[in-house]
Amino acid sequence: MNKKADELTILVADDEEDIRDGAERILQRIGYRVVKAARGDDAQKLVEALRPDLVMLDLKMPGRDGIEVLKFIRQMDPRILVIIVTGFATVEAAIEAMKRGAYDFIPKPFEPDQLRIVVNRAAEKIRLSREAELLEQEKRRTLADLDTEKSRVHTIIESLPDGVLVTNTSAQLVLMNPACKQLLELGADAKPGRSIEDYIPDEALSRLITEISQGKHLDFDDIPAHEFALSSGKYLRARGQPVLGDRKECLGAVVNFADITTLKIVDRLKSEFVSKVSHELRSPLSTIHEQLATVIGDLVDRAPVQDQHILTRAKEKTKGMSSLINDLLDMSRIDEGLICREPRPVLLEELLRSIVDFLDAKAQAKHQVLTLVLPEAPLPELQADPLALESIFGNLIANAITYTPDGGSIRVEVDLAGVNVRVRVIDNGIGIAEKHLARIFERFYRVKDEATRYITGTGLGLPIVKGLLEAMGGIIEVQSTPGEGSIFTVLLPAAPAKTGEQKP
Ligand code: ADP
Repeated sequence: MNKKADELTILVADDEEDIRDGAERILQRIGYRVVKAARGDDAQKLVEALRPDLVMLDLKMPGRDGIEVLKFIRQMDPRILVIIVTGFATVEAAIEAMKRGAYDFIPKPFEPDQLRIVVNRAAEKIRLSREAELLEQEKRRTLADLDTEKSRVHTIIESLPDGVLVTNTSAQLVLMNPACKQLLELGADAKPGRSIEDYIPDEALSRLITEISQGKHLDFDDIPAHEFALSSGKYLRARGQPVLGDRKECLGAVVNFADITTLKIVDRLKSEFVSKVSHELRSPLSTIHEQLATVIGDLVDRAPVQDQHILTRAKEKTKGMSSLINDLLDMSRIDEGLICREPRPVLLEELLRSIVDFLDAKAQAKHQVLTLVLPEAPLPELQADPLALESIFGNLIANAITYTPDGGSIRVEVDLAGVNVRVRVIDNGIGIAEKHLARIFERFYRVKDEATRYITGTGLGLPIVKGLLEAMGGIIEVQSTPGEGSIFTVLLPAAPAKTGEQKP
Protein backbone atom coordinates (compact mmCIF):
# COMPACT_ATOMS: atom_id res chain seq x y z
CA MET A 1 0.00 0.00 0.00
CA ASN A 2 2.78 2.41 0.89
CA LYS A 3 4.48 3.81 -2.14
CA LYS A 4 8.19 3.93 -1.37
CA ALA A 5 10.29 6.94 -2.39
CA ASP A 6 11.79 5.07 -5.32
CA GLU A 7 8.37 4.23 -6.64
CA LEU A 8 7.38 7.88 -6.91
CA THR A 9 8.07 9.63 -10.20
CA ILE A 10 8.83 13.34 -10.12
CA LEU A 11 8.84 15.58 -13.16
CA VAL A 12 11.16 18.54 -12.83
CA ALA A 13 9.98 21.18 -15.33
CA ASP A 14 12.30 24.19 -15.41
CA ASP A 15 14.01 26.09 -18.15
CA GLU A 16 17.18 26.53 -16.05
CA GLU A 17 19.46 23.60 -16.62
CA ASP A 18 21.26 24.03 -13.27
CA ILE A 19 18.02 23.86 -11.37
CA ARG A 20 16.87 20.78 -13.35
CA ASP A 21 20.11 18.89 -12.88
CA GLY A 22 20.57 19.98 -9.26
CA ALA A 23 17.05 18.88 -8.35
CA GLU A 24 17.54 15.61 -10.21
CA ARG A 25 20.72 14.82 -8.29
CA ILE A 26 19.22 15.61 -4.88
CA LEU A 27 16.01 13.72 -5.50
CA GLN A 28 17.60 10.66 -7.07
CA ARG A 29 19.92 10.40 -4.10
CA ILE A 30 16.96 10.01 -1.78
CA GLY A 31 15.37 7.40 -4.02
CA TYR A 32 12.92 9.18 -6.33
CA ARG A 33 12.63 8.54 -10.03
CA VAL A 34 13.17 11.82 -11.88
CA VAL A 35 12.25 12.97 -15.40
CA LYS A 36 13.02 16.44 -16.73
CA ALA A 37 11.52 18.97 -19.10
CA ALA A 38 12.95 22.33 -20.16
CA ARG A 39 9.79 23.67 -21.80
CA GLY A 40 6.16 24.01 -20.74
CA ASP A 41 4.78 22.11 -23.75
CA ASP A 42 7.27 19.26 -23.24
CA ALA A 43 6.32 19.13 -19.57
CA GLN A 44 2.67 18.80 -20.54
CA LYS A 45 3.46 15.91 -22.92
CA LEU A 46 5.47 14.09 -20.26
CA VAL A 47 2.68 14.53 -17.73
CA GLU A 48 0.27 13.00 -20.19
CA ALA A 49 2.54 10.10 -21.10
CA LEU A 50 4.08 9.25 -17.73
CA ARG A 51 1.52 10.40 -15.20
CA PRO A 52 4.16 11.43 -12.64
CA ASP A 53 3.17 11.52 -8.98
CA LEU A 54 4.65 14.95 -8.44
CA VAL A 55 5.58 17.85 -10.69
CA MET A 56 8.07 20.58 -9.77
CA LEU A 57 6.84 23.34 -11.99
CA ASP A 58 8.62 26.55 -12.94
CA LEU A 59 6.12 29.27 -13.71
CA LYS A 60 8.20 30.93 -16.41
CA MET A 61 9.03 28.53 -19.22
CA PRO A 62 9.21 28.69 -22.96
CA GLY A 63 6.64 26.76 -24.99
CA ARG A 64 3.91 27.02 -22.43
CA ASP A 65 3.31 29.12 -19.33
CA GLY A 66 3.59 27.28 -15.96
CA ILE A 67 0.06 28.36 -14.91
CA GLU A 68 -1.31 26.83 -18.13
CA VAL A 69 0.53 23.58 -17.45
CA LEU A 70 -0.83 23.63 -13.90
CA LYS A 71 -4.38 24.04 -15.20
CA PHE A 72 -3.84 21.15 -17.62
CA ILE A 73 -2.53 18.88 -14.82
CA ARG A 74 -5.41 19.71 -12.49
CA GLN A 75 -7.90 18.85 -15.17
CA MET A 76 -6.20 15.66 -16.24
CA ASP A 77 -5.56 14.16 -12.83
CA PRO A 78 -6.13 16.16 -9.67
CA ARG A 79 -4.18 13.55 -7.70
CA ILE A 80 -0.88 14.71 -9.24
CA LEU A 81 0.69 17.13 -6.80
CA VAL A 82 2.35 20.27 -8.15
CA ILE A 83 5.11 22.19 -6.38
CA ILE A 84 5.69 25.61 -7.82
CA VAL A 85 9.34 26.51 -8.23
CA THR A 86 9.66 30.24 -8.42
CA GLY A 87 12.09 33.15 -8.18
CA PHE A 88 11.47 35.82 -5.47
CA ALA A 89 10.21 38.21 -8.07
CA THR A 90 7.17 36.11 -8.81
CA VAL A 91 5.93 35.25 -5.33
CA GLU A 92 2.54 36.76 -6.19
CA ALA A 93 2.34 34.46 -9.18
CA ALA A 94 3.19 31.55 -6.91
CA ILE A 95 0.37 32.52 -4.56
CA GLU A 96 -1.94 32.70 -7.55
CA ALA A 97 -0.76 29.22 -8.54
CA MET A 98 -1.47 27.93 -5.04
CA LYS A 99 -4.99 29.27 -5.37
CA ARG A 100 -5.35 27.29 -8.60
CA GLY A 101 -4.54 24.09 -6.86
CA ALA A 102 -0.74 23.86 -6.55
CA TYR A 103 0.21 21.94 -3.45
CA ASP A 104 3.28 23.91 -2.29
CA PHE A 105 5.96 26.23 -3.51
CA ILE A 106 9.70 26.55 -3.20
CA PRO A 107 11.64 29.74 -3.98
CA LYS A 108 14.63 29.65 -6.30
CA PRO A 109 17.45 29.20 -5.64
CA PHE A 110 16.91 26.54 -2.99
CA GLU A 111 19.15 24.62 -0.65
CA PRO A 112 19.19 20.80 -1.07
CA ASP A 113 17.64 20.44 2.40
CA GLN A 114 14.82 22.83 1.52
CA LEU A 115 14.04 20.77 -1.56
CA ARG A 116 14.15 17.50 0.34
CA ILE A 117 11.78 18.79 3.02
CA VAL A 118 9.24 20.14 0.53
CA VAL A 119 9.35 17.03 -1.68
CA ASN A 120 9.23 14.57 1.21
CA ARG A 121 6.23 16.40 2.64
CA ALA A 122 4.45 16.14 -0.69
CA ALA A 123 5.44 12.46 -1.02
CA GLU A 124 4.00 11.80 2.43
CA LYS A 125 0.77 13.47 1.42
CA ILE A 126 0.64 11.27 -1.71
CA ARG A 127 1.19 8.13 0.33
CA LEU A 128 -1.46 9.06 2.87
CA SER A 129 -4.07 9.88 0.28
CA ARG A 130 -3.34 6.62 -1.56
CA GLU A 131 -3.74 4.65 1.66
CA ALA A 132 -6.99 6.43 2.38
CA GLU A 133 -8.18 5.66 -1.14
CA LEU A 134 -7.34 1.96 -0.76
CA LEU A 135 -9.12 1.81 2.60
CA GLU A 136 -12.13 3.46 1.08
CA GLN A 137 -12.13 0.95 -1.79
CA GLU A 138 -11.83 -1.93 0.65
CA LYS A 139 -14.69 -0.59 2.73
CA ARG A 140 -16.85 -0.24 -0.34
CA ARG A 141 -16.02 -3.80 -1.39
CA THR A 142 -16.77 -5.23 2.07
CA LEU A 143 -20.06 -3.40 2.20
CA ALA A 144 -20.88 -4.60 -1.28
CA ASP A 145 -19.96 -8.18 -0.28
CA LEU A 146 -22.16 -7.95 2.80
CA ASP A 147 -24.98 -6.55 0.76
CA THR A 148 -24.62 -9.32 -1.80
CA GLU A 149 -24.50 -11.97 0.94
CA LYS A 150 -27.53 -10.49 2.66
CA SER A 151 -29.54 -10.29 -0.50
CA ARG A 152 -28.45 -13.80 -1.48
CA VAL A 153 -29.70 -15.25 1.83
CA HIS A 154 -32.82 -13.14 1.51
CA THR A 155 -33.47 -14.39 -2.02
CA ILE A 156 -32.93 -18.01 -0.97
CA ILE A 157 -35.35 -17.72 1.96
CA GLU A 158 -37.88 -15.88 -0.17
CA SER A 159 -37.82 -18.55 -2.86
CA LEU A 160 -37.87 -21.63 -0.60
CA PRO A 161 -40.84 -23.85 -1.43
CA ASP A 162 -41.28 -24.62 2.27
CA GLY A 163 -42.66 -22.01 4.61
CA VAL A 164 -40.12 -20.45 6.96
CA LEU A 165 -40.71 -18.10 9.85
CA VAL A 166 -38.41 -16.66 12.47
CA THR A 167 -39.30 -15.33 15.91
CA ASN A 168 -37.37 -13.32 18.51
CA THR A 169 -37.01 -14.27 22.18
CA SER A 170 -40.39 -12.69 22.96
CA ALA A 171 -41.98 -15.05 20.41
CA GLN A 172 -42.80 -12.17 18.09
CA LEU A 173 -42.66 -12.88 14.39
CA VAL A 174 -39.67 -11.13 12.80
CA LEU A 175 -39.56 -12.76 9.39
CA MET A 176 -41.67 -15.01 7.17
CA ASN A 177 -41.31 -15.96 3.54
CA PRO A 178 -44.10 -15.90 0.93
CA ALA A 179 -44.47 -19.71 1.08
CA CYS A 180 -45.15 -19.41 4.81
CA LYS A 181 -47.88 -16.81 4.27
CA GLN A 182 -49.41 -19.00 1.60
CA LEU A 183 -49.28 -22.21 3.68
CA LEU A 184 -50.75 -20.52 6.74
CA GLU A 185 -53.32 -18.79 4.49
CA LEU A 186 -52.38 -15.39 5.87
CA GLY A 187 -52.69 -13.33 2.69
CA ALA A 188 -49.77 -11.88 0.70
CA ASP A 189 -49.69 -8.57 2.58
CA ALA A 190 -49.49 -10.10 6.07
CA LYS A 191 -46.64 -8.41 7.96
CA PRO A 192 -44.39 -9.70 10.73
CA GLY A 193 -44.26 -7.87 14.06
CA ARG A 194 -47.00 -9.42 16.14
CA SER A 195 -47.02 -12.29 18.58
CA ILE A 196 -46.78 -15.79 17.11
CA GLU A 197 -50.30 -16.86 18.13
CA ASP A 198 -51.72 -14.15 15.85
CA TYR A 199 -50.38 -16.10 12.88
CA ILE A 200 -50.72 -19.76 13.93
CA PRO A 201 -54.22 -21.16 14.37
CA ASP A 202 -52.97 -24.11 16.46
CA GLU A 203 -52.66 -23.41 20.18
CA ALA A 204 -50.25 -26.25 20.97
CA LEU A 205 -47.90 -25.22 18.17
CA SER A 206 -47.93 -21.54 19.25
CA ARG A 207 -47.03 -22.72 22.74
CA LEU A 208 -44.20 -24.89 21.43
CA ILE A 209 -42.78 -22.03 19.30
CA THR A 210 -42.99 -19.67 22.27
CA GLU A 211 -41.06 -22.14 24.42
CA ILE A 212 -38.41 -22.64 21.72
CA SER A 213 -38.10 -18.85 21.30
CA GLN A 214 -37.55 -18.45 25.03
CA GLY A 215 -34.73 -20.99 24.98
CA LYS A 216 -36.61 -23.78 26.75
CA HIS A 217 -35.73 -26.39 24.11
CA LEU A 218 -32.01 -26.21 23.47
CA ASP A 219 -31.63 -29.88 22.61
CA PHE A 220 -32.53 -29.93 18.90
CA ASP A 221 -33.23 -33.68 18.83
CA ASP A 222 -35.89 -33.47 21.53
CA ILE A 223 -38.13 -31.03 19.69
CA PRO A 224 -41.04 -32.94 18.18
CA ALA A 225 -42.47 -32.19 14.75
CA HIS A 226 -46.02 -30.92 15.03
CA GLU A 227 -48.86 -31.70 12.65
CA PHE A 228 -52.00 -29.60 12.53
CA ALA A 229 -54.98 -28.85 10.33
CA LEU A 230 -56.26 -25.52 9.06
CA SER A 231 -59.97 -24.81 8.85
CA SER A 232 -59.71 -25.18 5.05
CA GLY A 233 -58.78 -28.85 5.51
CA LYS A 234 -55.11 -28.30 4.68
CA TYR A 235 -52.65 -30.31 6.79
CA LEU A 236 -49.28 -28.85 7.77
CA ARG A 237 -46.22 -30.26 9.50
CA ALA A 238 -44.13 -27.76 11.48
CA ARG A 239 -40.60 -28.26 12.74
CA GLY A 240 -39.08 -25.70 15.06
CA GLN A 241 -35.54 -25.13 16.27
CA PRO A 242 -33.87 -22.49 18.39
CA VAL A 243 -31.60 -19.95 16.68
CA LEU A 244 -28.40 -19.88 18.70
CA GLY A 245 -25.89 -17.03 18.92
CA ASP A 246 -22.09 -17.23 19.14
CA ARG A 247 -22.21 -18.01 22.84
CA LYS A 248 -24.94 -20.63 22.31
CA GLU A 249 -27.53 -18.22 23.71
CA CYS A 250 -31.03 -18.48 22.29
CA LEU A 251 -31.95 -15.63 19.92
CA GLY A 252 -35.37 -16.91 18.90
CA ALA A 253 -36.84 -19.74 16.89
CA VAL A 254 -36.89 -20.77 13.26
CA VAL A 255 -39.84 -22.86 12.13
CA ASN A 256 -40.41 -24.53 8.81
CA PHE A 257 -43.77 -25.63 7.46
CA ALA A 258 -44.52 -28.30 4.89
CA ASP A 259 -47.86 -29.08 3.32
CA ILE A 260 -48.64 -32.74 4.10
CA THR A 261 -52.26 -32.74 2.92
CA THR A 262 -51.49 -35.13 0.06
CA LEU A 263 -49.65 -37.48 2.42
CA LYS A 264 -52.64 -37.45 4.73
CA ILE A 265 -55.00 -38.21 1.83
CA VAL A 266 -52.80 -41.08 0.61
CA ASP A 267 -52.60 -42.36 4.19
CA ARG A 268 -56.35 -42.26 4.53
CA LEU A 269 -56.91 -43.97 1.18
CA LYS A 270 -54.38 -46.62 2.16
CA SER A 271 -56.02 -47.36 5.45
CA GLU A 272 -59.49 -47.33 3.84
CA PHE A 273 -58.19 -49.86 1.34
CA VAL A 274 -56.62 -52.04 4.03
CA SER A 275 -59.77 -51.83 6.07
CA LYS A 276 -62.01 -52.80 3.11
CA VAL A 277 -59.82 -55.72 2.08
CA SER A 278 -59.55 -56.92 5.69
CA HIS A 279 -63.32 -56.75 6.13
CA GLU A 280 -63.82 -58.76 2.97
CA LEU A 281 -61.33 -61.40 4.05
CA ARG A 282 -62.36 -61.68 7.66
CA SER A 283 -65.57 -63.68 7.41
CA PRO A 284 -64.50 -66.19 4.72
CA LEU A 285 -61.30 -66.80 6.69
CA SER A 286 -63.10 -67.41 9.93
CA THR A 287 -65.50 -69.73 8.12
CA ILE A 288 -62.56 -71.71 6.69
CA HIS A 289 -61.00 -71.80 10.15
CA GLU A 290 -64.17 -73.09 11.81
CA GLN A 291 -64.78 -75.65 9.06
CA LEU A 292 -61.21 -76.91 9.32
CA ALA A 293 -61.67 -77.28 13.06
CA THR A 294 -64.84 -79.29 12.49
CA VAL A 295 -63.21 -81.50 9.85
CA ILE A 296 -60.18 -82.12 12.06
CA GLY A 297 -62.51 -83.06 14.95
CA ASP A 298 -64.41 -85.49 12.72
CA LEU A 299 -61.25 -87.09 11.39
CA VAL A 300 -59.61 -87.84 14.73
CA ASP A 301 -58.78 -91.57 14.81
CA ARG A 302 -60.11 -92.02 11.27
CA ALA A 303 -57.71 -90.33 8.85
CA PRO A 304 -53.99 -91.06 8.54
CA VAL A 305 -51.83 -89.05 10.99
CA GLN A 306 -50.09 -87.34 8.05
CA ASP A 307 -53.41 -85.89 6.77
CA GLN A 308 -54.43 -84.78 10.25
CA HIS A 309 -51.09 -83.04 10.56
CA ILE A 310 -51.57 -81.18 7.24
CA LEU A 311 -55.05 -80.05 8.26
CA THR A 312 -53.85 -78.92 11.68
CA ARG A 313 -51.10 -76.86 10.03
CA ALA A 314 -53.70 -75.33 7.69
CA LYS A 315 -55.86 -74.45 10.71
CA GLU A 316 -52.91 -72.78 12.46
CA LYS A 317 -52.14 -70.77 9.33
CA THR A 318 -55.74 -69.53 9.01
CA LYS A 319 -55.62 -68.56 12.69
CA GLY A 320 -52.46 -66.53 12.00
CA MET A 321 -54.14 -64.87 9.02
CA SER A 322 -57.21 -64.05 11.11
CA SER A 323 -55.14 -62.34 13.74
CA LEU A 324 -53.23 -60.41 11.07
CA ILE A 325 -56.54 -59.21 9.65
CA ASN A 326 -57.81 -58.23 13.08
CA ASP A 327 -54.60 -56.31 13.73
CA LEU A 328 -54.85 -54.57 10.34
CA LEU A 329 -58.42 -53.56 11.12
CA ASP A 330 -57.36 -52.22 14.51
CA MET A 331 -54.52 -50.30 12.90
CA SER A 332 -56.77 -48.69 10.30
CA ARG A 333 -59.29 -47.79 12.99
CA ILE A 334 -56.50 -46.04 14.87
CA ASP A 335 -55.37 -44.27 11.66
CA GLU A 336 -58.89 -43.10 11.00
CA GLY A 337 -59.26 -41.80 14.54
CA LEU A 338 -62.12 -44.16 15.21
CA ILE A 339 -61.00 -45.24 18.66
CA CYS A 340 -61.25 -43.64 22.08
CA ARG A 341 -63.93 -41.28 20.82
CA GLU A 342 -66.24 -41.78 23.74
CA PRO A 343 -64.17 -42.28 26.89
CA ARG A 344 -65.99 -43.83 29.81
CA PRO A 345 -65.05 -44.22 33.47
CA VAL A 346 -62.95 -47.36 33.78
CA LEU A 347 -61.74 -49.19 36.88
CA LEU A 348 -58.28 -50.24 35.83
CA GLU A 349 -57.86 -52.85 38.63
CA GLU A 350 -60.89 -54.78 37.37
CA LEU A 351 -59.92 -54.52 33.76
CA LEU A 352 -56.39 -55.79 34.45
CA ARG A 353 -57.62 -58.57 36.70
CA SER A 354 -59.87 -59.91 33.97
CA ILE A 355 -57.09 -59.78 31.35
CA VAL A 356 -54.65 -61.52 33.69
CA ASP A 357 -57.25 -64.19 34.51
CA PHE A 358 -57.89 -64.72 30.82
CA LEU A 359 -54.21 -64.98 29.86
CA ASP A 360 -53.25 -67.06 32.88
CA ALA A 361 -54.17 -70.23 30.98
CA LYS A 362 -51.64 -69.33 28.30
CA ALA A 363 -48.98 -68.66 30.97
CA GLN A 364 -49.75 -71.89 32.79
CA ALA A 365 -49.39 -73.84 29.56
CA LYS A 366 -45.79 -72.62 29.61
CA HIS A 367 -45.41 -73.23 33.35
CA GLN A 368 -45.01 -69.51 33.90
CA VAL A 369 -46.13 -67.50 36.91
CA LEU A 370 -48.29 -64.52 35.98
CA THR A 371 -49.00 -62.10 38.82
CA LEU A 372 -50.84 -58.82 39.17
CA VAL A 373 -49.50 -56.43 41.82
CA LEU A 374 -51.95 -53.67 42.72
CA PRO A 375 -51.34 -50.71 45.06
CA GLU A 376 -52.95 -50.76 48.49
CA ALA A 377 -54.86 -47.53 47.98
CA PRO A 378 -57.55 -47.68 45.31
CA LEU A 379 -56.56 -46.24 41.95
CA PRO A 380 -58.29 -43.15 40.57
CA GLU A 381 -60.90 -43.85 37.96
CA LEU A 382 -59.70 -43.48 34.38
CA GLN A 383 -61.62 -41.83 31.58
CA ALA A 384 -60.86 -44.08 28.66
CA ASP A 385 -62.11 -46.50 26.05
CA PRO A 386 -62.16 -49.89 27.85
CA LEU A 387 -61.73 -51.82 24.60
CA ALA A 388 -58.58 -49.82 23.81
CA LEU A 389 -57.22 -50.51 27.31
CA GLU A 390 -57.96 -54.22 26.89
CA SER A 391 -56.10 -54.23 23.60
CA ILE A 392 -53.11 -52.37 25.11
CA PHE A 393 -52.61 -54.58 28.15
CA GLY A 394 -53.77 -57.75 26.37
CA ASN A 395 -51.04 -57.23 23.77
CA LEU A 396 -48.31 -56.39 26.29
CA ILE A 397 -49.05 -59.29 28.64
CA ALA A 398 -49.49 -61.76 25.76
CA ASN A 399 -46.11 -60.61 24.37
CA ALA A 400 -44.48 -61.07 27.78
CA ILE A 401 -45.79 -64.63 27.91
CA THR A 402 -44.80 -65.32 24.29
CA TYR A 403 -41.26 -63.95 24.58
CA THR A 404 -40.51 -65.56 27.95
CA PRO A 405 -39.33 -69.16 27.93
CA ASP A 406 -41.13 -71.95 29.83
CA GLY A 407 -40.96 -71.62 33.59
CA GLY A 408 -40.42 -67.84 33.54
CA SER A 409 -42.38 -65.23 35.39
CA ILE A 410 -44.40 -62.18 34.40
CA ARG A 411 -45.46 -59.43 36.78
CA VAL A 412 -47.98 -56.71 36.08
CA GLU A 413 -47.35 -53.90 38.57
CA VAL A 414 -49.65 -50.92 38.97
CA ASP A 415 -48.99 -47.71 40.92
CA LEU A 416 -49.41 -43.96 40.78
CA ALA A 417 -46.66 -41.79 39.30
CA GLY A 418 -47.54 -38.13 39.78
CA VAL A 419 -50.67 -37.40 37.80
CA ASN A 420 -50.33 -40.67 35.91
CA VAL A 421 -51.33 -44.22 36.58
CA ARG A 422 -48.33 -46.40 35.83
CA VAL A 423 -48.60 -50.00 34.67
CA ARG A 424 -45.44 -52.03 34.23
CA VAL A 425 -45.38 -55.37 32.47
CA ILE A 426 -42.19 -57.05 33.64
CA ASP A 427 -40.88 -60.35 32.35
CA ASN A 428 -37.71 -62.35 32.77
CA GLY A 429 -37.76 -63.51 29.15
CA ILE A 430 -35.45 -63.30 26.15
CA GLY A 431 -35.18 -59.50 26.23
CA ILE A 432 -34.59 -57.18 23.27
CA ALA A 433 -31.21 -56.03 22.00
CA GLU A 434 -30.50 -52.28 21.99
CA LYS A 435 -30.53 -52.03 18.17
CA HIS A 436 -34.12 -53.35 18.00
CA LEU A 437 -35.51 -51.33 20.89
CA ALA A 438 -36.21 -48.17 18.92
CA ARG A 439 -37.82 -50.12 16.09
CA ILE A 440 -40.20 -52.55 17.76
CA PHE A 441 -42.98 -49.94 17.66
CA GLU A 442 -42.73 -49.73 13.87
CA ARG A 443 -45.39 -51.49 11.84
CA PHE A 444 -44.49 -55.07 10.89
CA TYR A 445 -41.14 -54.90 12.67
CA ARG A 446 -40.23 -58.22 14.25
CA VAL A 447 -36.95 -59.28 15.79
CA LYS A 448 -35.60 -62.18 13.79
CA ASP A 449 -33.01 -64.27 15.60
CA GLU A 450 -32.49 -67.75 17.06
CA ALA A 451 -34.70 -67.02 20.09
CA THR A 452 -37.69 -65.76 18.08
CA ARG A 453 -37.33 -68.16 15.16
CA TYR A 454 -40.31 -70.37 16.00
CA ILE A 455 -42.54 -67.62 17.35
CA THR A 456 -45.21 -66.40 14.96
CA GLY A 457 -46.69 -62.92 15.03
CA THR A 458 -47.76 -60.00 12.89
CA GLY A 459 -45.42 -57.26 14.06
CA LEU A 460 -48.47 -55.05 14.57
CA GLY A 461 -49.10 -55.59 18.29
CA LEU A 462 -46.80 -52.87 19.63
CA PRO A 463 -47.68 -50.29 16.93
CA ILE A 464 -51.34 -50.80 17.88
CA VAL A 465 -50.50 -50.35 21.58
CA LYS A 466 -48.57 -47.17 20.81
CA GLY A 467 -51.25 -45.79 18.48
CA LEU A 468 -53.98 -46.37 21.06
CA LEU A 469 -51.95 -44.79 23.83
CA GLU A 470 -51.18 -41.73 21.74
CA ALA A 471 -54.87 -41.32 21.01
CA MET A 472 -55.67 -41.34 24.73
CA GLY A 473 -52.80 -39.09 25.82
CA GLY A 474 -50.67 -41.86 27.31
CA ILE A 475 -47.13 -42.97 26.62
CA ILE A 476 -45.17 -46.20 26.52
CA GLU A 477 -41.50 -46.85 27.25
CA VAL A 478 -39.41 -49.98 27.20
CA GLN A 479 -36.27 -51.10 28.97
CA SER A 480 -34.75 -54.43 28.18
CA THR A 481 -31.65 -56.55 28.64
CA PRO A 482 -31.14 -59.48 26.28
CA GLY A 483 -31.25 -62.74 28.20
CA GLU A 484 -32.62 -61.09 31.36
CA GLY A 485 -36.01 -59.69 30.43
CA SER A 486 -38.02 -56.60 29.55
CA ILE A 487 -40.07 -53.93 31.26
CA PHE A 488 -42.80 -52.19 29.26
CA THR A 489 -44.01 -49.12 31.18
CA VAL A 490 -47.32 -47.46 30.33
CA LEU A 491 -48.32 -44.07 31.71
CA LEU A 492 -51.97 -43.08 31.54
CA PRO A 493 -53.24 -39.67 32.62
CA ALA A 494 -55.38 -40.08 35.74
CA ALA A 495 -57.11 -36.76 35.19
CA PRO A 496 -59.95 -36.84 32.64
CA ALA A 497 -58.18 -38.06 29.54
CA LYS A 498 -58.11 -36.45 26.13
CA THR A 499 -60.68 -37.79 23.72
CA GLY A 500 -59.43 -39.43 20.53
CA GLU A 501 -58.21 -36.72 18.16
CA GLN A 502 -60.14 -36.25 14.95
CA LYS A 503 -58.08 -37.22 11.97
CA PRO A 504 -58.87 -36.51 8.33
P1 ADP B 1 -45.33 -59.58 17.26
O1 ADP B 1 -45.29 -59.98 18.69
O2 ADP B 1 -46.59 -59.93 16.58
O3 ADP B 1 -44.13 -59.99 16.51
P2 ADP B 1 -45.21 -56.91 18.31
O4 ADP B 1 -45.38 -55.61 17.61
O5 ADP B 1 -46.11 -57.18 19.43
O6 ADP B 1 -45.28 -58.00 17.18
O7 ADP B 1 -43.72 -56.97 18.82
C1 ADP B 1 -42.66 -56.62 17.96
C2 ADP B 1 -41.40 -57.38 18.34
O8 ADP B 1 -40.94 -56.90 19.61
C3 ADP B 1 -41.60 -58.83 18.52
O9 ADP B 1 -41.45 -59.51 17.28
C4 ADP B 1 -40.52 -59.20 19.51
O10 ADP B 1 -39.34 -59.48 18.85
C5 ADP B 1 -40.34 -57.97 20.34
N1 ADP B 1 -41.02 -58.06 21.66
C6 ADP B 1 -42.22 -57.57 21.99
N2 ADP B 1 -42.48 -57.80 23.31
C7 ADP B 1 -41.42 -58.45 23.80
C8 ADP B 1 -41.04 -58.96 25.10
N3 ADP B 1 -41.87 -58.85 26.18
N4 ADP B 1 -39.85 -59.56 25.22
C9 ADP B 1 -39.01 -59.67 24.17
N5 ADP B 1 -39.29 -59.23 22.93
C10 ADP B 1 -40.48 -58.62 22.75
